Amino acid sequence: MKKRSILPAAVVCTLSLGGLFGYQSNASAAGDLQQKKSEIESKLSNVQSEMDKKDNQISNIQEKQASLGSQLEAIESKIQSANKKISEQEQNISTTKSQIADLKKNIAEIKKRIEDRNAILEDRARAMQKNGGGSVNYLDVFLEAKSVGDFIDRFSAMKTLVEADRQILEEQKKDEQDLKDKQASVEKKLSDLESMLSDLQSLKDSLKQDESEKSALIKQLDKQKDSLKEEKMSLSEQKSILADQKASIEKAIAFAKKQAEARKEAAAKADAAAKAQTNTNAGSTGSKAGTTSAASSASPSSGSHSGGPLPEVSSGAFTRPASGYISSGFGERSGGFHPGVDIANSIGTPVVAAADGVVFRAYRSSSYGNCVMITHYINGKLYTTVYAHLSSYSVSTGQHVSKGQQIGAMGNTGESTGPHLHFEIYNGRWTPPPHAGAQNPRNYVNF
Ligand SMILES: [Zn+2]
Repeated sequence: MKKRSILPAAVVCTLSLGGLFGYQSNASAAGDLQQKKSEIESKLSNVQSEMDKKDNQISNIQEKQASLGSQLEAIESKIQSANKKISEQEQNISTTKSQIADLKKNIAEIKKRIEDRNAILEDRARAMQKNGGGSVNYLDVFLEAKSVGDFIDRFSAMKTLVEADRQILEEQKKDEQDLKDKQASVEKKLSDLESMLSDLQSLKDSLKQDESEKSALIKQLDKQKDSLKEEKMSLSEQKSILADQKASIEKAIAFAKKQAEARKEAAAKADAAAKAQTNTNAGSTGSKAGTTSAASSASPSSGSHSGGPLPEVSSGAFTRPASGYISSGFGERSGGFHPGVDIANSIGTPVVAAADGVVFRAYRSSSYGNCVMITHYINGKLYTTVYAHLSSYSVSTGQHVSKGQQIGAMGNTGESTGPHLHFEIYNGRWTPPPHAGAQNPRNYVNF
């Protein structure tokens, strides 16, 4: 008998209090809502100016890239003209080398001729000596001569050589000198060309180095641009989360009122039924009616879930969103601030809404993975909960959900290293990384 009446009475008590709070705080709720909205609007404009900043940075980088690109083109055309000069010089060098080879052949021929003539001159000298040409030994003069020129000088000095022989010798001397001069000039030309070639080669090397430095810089700028784009994407994600939440707040308030009224009505009915049943002395049916009523309002999705039993719905504003153990608590940890709690269990474990509310986002995020975000309006106050790394979600944006209703299943998506639910709770709106507004869920949920 007592059991029968306790539960409905408690429900009625809770619900009328809830209704009362809802009504009394209507004026302040409107103010509160207005404040939340303007907070979100100011956050949106911050996000917008951040995005504008990133856009500016990207266009600066693009300008730098364009200027580097034209510098690269200039360098490439310099390299091309240097290459052309190098191949011209190489051609010159090979021509000069073959000229040198020809001249060397010439020199050898002339040397041979000089030797032949020397032999004749030697014979002549011997003949002159035999014929007793005075006290001078012509052979000695000839043999002691250091060169043809020297010989001629000595010979001329002797004043005994016939004019014809002297002319032959002069010609030979002139030929030999010409050849030496030619050879020297060709060798000089060759060494000039070689030094020019080496200059061009070092010019080419420095241009190549310049080119590779410029390309590295362009690659680096590309990377910077990519990372800015990624940051910009995450900013645009932030922006749409904030916009979606803004759009959900009025809906969440309306839904909270509707839920409160429905509960009040259900409680009144249950109360009436309990009274009637007390009168007709039907103990077991009354108990059942009470349980059914509580279950239907707390867990409307029971029966349509998979992956194991739903967690028991606890009393208080929020219920635990999944069964499992807390593998990581809220707060500072190695790797930085952890803005929620991690509940570990197997993949597919049901994940439920922690409280009545409106889904303002059900999507796949690169960081959160498959993620559901819910706006709650409880006793005139706005809350936000986040359910991340889901294997899948079964709700969509704008959908009303009740406390304990399944919204998805535990997974390992996004930036996650094992199957778990990452659960965040905000006293107010969701706040972008580093999630300064996140609260310790243990202060709201009895884990
Ligand atoms: Zn986590």
